[in-house]
Amino acid sequence: MNLKSVYLVATFLFAACILAAAPLAHAKLRVVTTVTDLRAITEEVCGDLASVEAIAKGTQDPHYIEAKPSFMVKASRADLMISIGLDLEIGWLPSILRGARNPSIMKGQQGYLEVGPLVEPLEVSKGEISRAMGDIHPFGNPHVTIDPIRAGEIAVHIAKRLGELDSGNAARFLQNATALKTRLEAKTKLWQARIDKTGVKSIVTYHKTLTYFFDRFKIAHPAILEPKPGIPPTSGHIIDVIQLIRAQKIPLIFVENFFDPTVTNKIKQDVPSVRAATVAVSVDGAPGISKIDDLYENLVKNVEGH
Ligand SMILES: [Zn+2]
Repeated sequence: MNLKSVYLVATFLFAACILAAAPLAHAKLRVVTTVTDLRAITEEVCGDLASVEAIAKGTQDPHYIEAKPSFMVKASRADLMISIGLDLEIGWLPSILRGARNPSIMKGQQGYLEVGPLVEPLEVSKGEISRAMGDIHPFGNPHVTIDPIRAGEIAVHIAKRLGELDSGNAARFLQNATALKTRLEAKTKLWQARIDKTGVKSIVTYHKTLTYFFDRFKIAHPAILEPKPGIPPTSGHIIDVIQLIRAQKIPLIFVENFFDPTVTNKIKQDVPSVRAATVAVSVDGAPGISKIDDLYENLVKNVEGH
């Protein structure tokens, strides 16, 4: 071997070492979440210790997301997939996981986390379930992140799993999650006081998206514009809802902003005093809602009427 080829081999080995070392030097965890609320919570937990991306947009109905190949590519590179579970993503996440061919994020693996079942789901079905009941979730209402207290608990569950995958940063993940949980607990008291001040005690919604928010802030939700979950409002059902709004003097209707808000026109014709608001129900659901706190703040403002 002459001097030149020794030099070339040495250069090659040096470059190979740099290439091999590079992924270690930048071994940040890659987290993919199904929905934007989970992304926002995970970002708070991670700070700059991981990259976090969501699949669904905040303006989309999370029940119906198209399993695009680009989502499979994201999932194929992920170290951790965080979902709500409780059947929220049942129509699209299984296809994305199949397409991703990433064994470490399959159900049952350390790289797969479902947070919904960990935070005491409401409306868990007892007894027989049939298709005639509509798009029912037998394991409970999956819209858990709309409650700030549960969001804080979810942060802690996420921190624990991240700590298992990256033990060197476990303490920092937990510290960040606890800070978020404490902050949301403090704000919940202030939000409750503001809601109490409005005198609003019941709200009609389009879908049962806000159940956990109402449960947390002691707001009744005696009617839903969908006659059954996932079934668009019928005129017969709207007439029933109008009667209920009159009888119970319900002051407010919230339509989640991925549904058709014109459904409230007929109600407002019959009950002019009722106020109808189109509301974002996810992070990124409207401009200015980029942190998980913004989501609740915006809902409280809508209860207040501004
Ligand atoms: Zn739902």
